[in-house]
Amino acid sequence: MVIIMLGAPGTGKGTVASILTKKLGIPQVSTGDIFRKHIKEGTKLGKLAEKYISKGNLVPDDITIGLVENRLEESDVQEGIILDGFPRTVKQAEELDNILEKKGKKVDLVVNLTTPEEEIIERIVSRRICSNQECKTVYNLILNPPKQEGICDKCGSELVQRKDDNVETVKSRLNSYFEQTSPLVEYYEKQGNLYSALVSKTIDKLGKDVAEDVAKYIKDNNI
Ligand code: ADP
Ligand code: ZN
Repeated sequence: MVIIMLGAPGTGKGTVASILTKKLGIPQVSTGDIFRKHIKEGTKLGKLAEKYISKGNLVPDDITIGLVENRLEESDVQEGIILDGFPRTVKQAEELDNILEKKGKKVDLVVNLTTPEEEIIERIVSRRICSNQECKTVYNLILNPPKQEGICDKCGSELVQRKDDNVETVKSRLNSYFEQTSPLVEYYEKQGNLYSALVSKTIDKLGKDVAEDVAKYIKDNNI
């Protein structure tokens, strides 16, 4: 099963994906996480990607597509995968379709998350992430704070803020989303595999609630 998480930054793609991963027993692959790991390790790819990520721009398609193509070869994702943050351009979506087709697979479900823009900015600047690479649990100082300030509830590691989670970078990330990524909503709508959900405190629906809805939808529709 191939599931894609689509949505602007800060809509909760990672949160929904990490819950679905446990429910469905298939791995979550986040291109953002892969880039951040390379940046931390100071690899050549990391140095290159950082130039784009720090400005809130997308990493070029050829680099990103190559990365995902290689990842799709690995044994742990042959039964299924939740792609979190890929594709983000029409070119990436087309290439993904080609890659999957060669393997006799297809995109089975696209979970499209939307959140009002003013909420997005607030969510992103108050986001904190567990620094333990094995854990990476996401918190929000307002909506979902840790029990003890600055410490992960699950593993006791220090919570950190992503470098690109600041007001300035968020604005250009949102621009990148609207210009380059939002056309994918129509792309997948045409394919007939789009599931859209609003994530917002105004309707009391957060990532964890949407994850429950998606899991039920998958079961009810035999996806
Ligand atoms: P968010 O969804 O909160 O923006 P991600 O962790 O998904 O966070 O991505 C962080 C950054 O990594 C993006 O702003 C972008 O620069 C880069 N990135 C991640 N995935 C892609 C992709 N599929 N194509 C191009 N750049 C990407
Ligand atoms: Zn943790």
